[in-house]
Amino acid sequence: MVERLHVTLPAAVMTAADLEAARGARGFMPGDEGLVLHRAALFAAPRGPMLEVGGYCGKSAVYLGSAAREHGGVLFSVDHHRGSEENQPGELYCEEAVLDASGARVDTLPHFRRTLEATGLEEWVVAVVGGSATVARHWRTPLSLLFIDGGHSEAAAQADYAGFHAHLGEDGLLLIHDVFTDPADGGQAPFHVYQRALDDGFREVAAQGSLRVLSR
Ligand code: SAH
Ligand code: MG
Repeated sequence: MVERLHVTLPAAVMTAADLEAARGARGFMPGDEGLVLHRAALFAAPRGPMLEVGGYCGKSAVYLGSAAREHGGVLFSVDHHRGSEENQPGELYCEEAVLDASGARVDTLPHFRRTLEATGLEEWVVAVVGGSATVARHWRTPLSLLFIDGGHSEAAAQADYAGFHAHLGEDGLLLIHDVFTDPADGGQAPFHVYQRALDDGFREVAAQGSLRVLSR
């Protein structure tokens, strides 16, 4: 992990059980990046509520929520649970196990709930089921951490940044997933959001894989 000096992330304190649950959960969060999520959340959790956009089946929520439990904090996990473009039936990242009974629609909410139940994190992770743009329009609560991992179209990723980043407090952390500088490695929207955040005065705190941690 590359670390910059103006914010120091605490060392991970995940229990073996949480770690195993996080690693075993369905989703899109490599273990080394998940641990950086967890460390960022340990820094943020005592400072106020945290919010992630894109919960899917709860994998990232375990890394973040385990830090919330450590400090009596909370994570709001925003997701309509209908999947991103690439999760739809027939698309590259469609997992058959997350389709509903009709087989026609994604429904990750039951999976999300089971992951949180199995880890005993229901008290520290609150599922907010709905479109992120709608939630953002009505969100008023200051945040200690914002993790952007929702829709990866340019419009969706930019809207998630625009809709929530102003709620970050003075030492609030902005985390962005799937930042690829080379288009050959993946879509560019999260990278563009990362560049926009730097333009807005955020500075890089840590980087691991495609995860970036920023603060003011
Ligand atoms: N963080 C997860 C992966 C998230 S995948 C993990 O650790 O595995 C992206 C998620 O964003 C999907 O579950 C999808 O339903 C959600 N999503 C995409 N666009 C959204 C939107 N506009 N509003 C709410 N959720 C959205
Ligand atoms: Mg991601």
